[in-house]
Amino acid sequence: MEFKPLSGREFPRYSAIKTFFRLPHLLPSDPEFAQADIALFGIPFDGGVSYRPGTRFAPSRVREASSLGRGFHLDRGQNVFAKWKVVDAGDCPTVPIEATQTYAQIEKYVANLLTQNKKFVACGGDHSVTLPILRALHKKLGRKLALVHFDAHLDTYPAAWGIEVHHGSFARHAIEEGLVDPKQMVQIGIRGPFAGADDLDFVKKHRIRVFTIDDVREGTLADFLKKLPVFGEIPTYLSFDVDGLDPVYAPGTGTPVIGGLTSYEAQRILRALQIQNLVGGDVVEISPPYDHADLTSLVGVDVMFEILSLFR
Ligand code: MN
Ligand code: MN
Repeated sequence: MEFKPLSGREFPRYSAIKTFFRLPHLLPSDPEFAQADIALFGIPFDGGVSYRPGTRFAPSRVREASSLGRGFHLDRGQNVFAKWKVVDAGDCPTVPIEATQTYAQIEKYVANLLTQNKKFVACGGDHSVTLPILRALHKKLGRKLALVHFDAHLDTYPAAWGIEVHHGSFARHAIEEGLVDPKQMVQIGIRGPFAGADDLDFVKKHRIRVFTIDDVREGTLADFLKKLPVFGEIPTYLSFDVDGLDPVYAPGTGTPVIGGLTSYEAQRILRALQIQNLVGGDVVEISPPYDHADLTSLVGVDVMFEILSLFR
């Protein structure tokens, strides 16, 4: 089987059945799936959202927008679809009315990918879906992971309505459950809004490296890129919440915060990351019902592409 995107000359980009980047669709249970290196998959779930829902519609919308995606990375001089066998593995099963069952399904789904030695990029879903992904990775690897986390929010917030896991608490749980090493964790694009100074207590206590939007913008972008930590052999995960971007660039999201990254800044930061052992990544919080002209879905497409380009 050829792991190549459909030709736009044979099937123009508005035509054909939509998969991520027009790649072949193979379920993880398909015998031919064994040949793939990297699986792209959707997690259509928004049961962890506290404000605006809609991320359940992201995987299908991002597939549609990814018709315009291509494999060649100008900055890296490589075609990611020639370097790796990439496949659209479909969507992870979810239970739209029950979060706990959904998190168990996600953990099981990712565990299966890892058993088959696949790397992966997930398209959420609200940000709560990252927690079961990290649980599966930690269980398989038997050690704490490094985490690169783009977001406006710290995602270290306490339980809401008595519910521990929601889309603003994945990072706190990842540390409290021992899945992620806080000293090998960086947050980029942070700007609140904060209820009080004690919102920062958790990241201070665990000495998490936080780059606020001011840190990104105070000097030149090139100066900031030099401050990014380098990740060595430690298994590293990348989670990209699209609300790290300014709502001008990513309006279709659950909890928009003004004063964020531009799309270009996010691309430059992603391209500057030095990660020796990236094991997986996700783009989350894309809410198509609040989007305009697919702007946010197009961000999702590019973030998936940049994560793909980071695999070594
Ligand atoms: Mn956020
Ligand atoms: Mn988040």
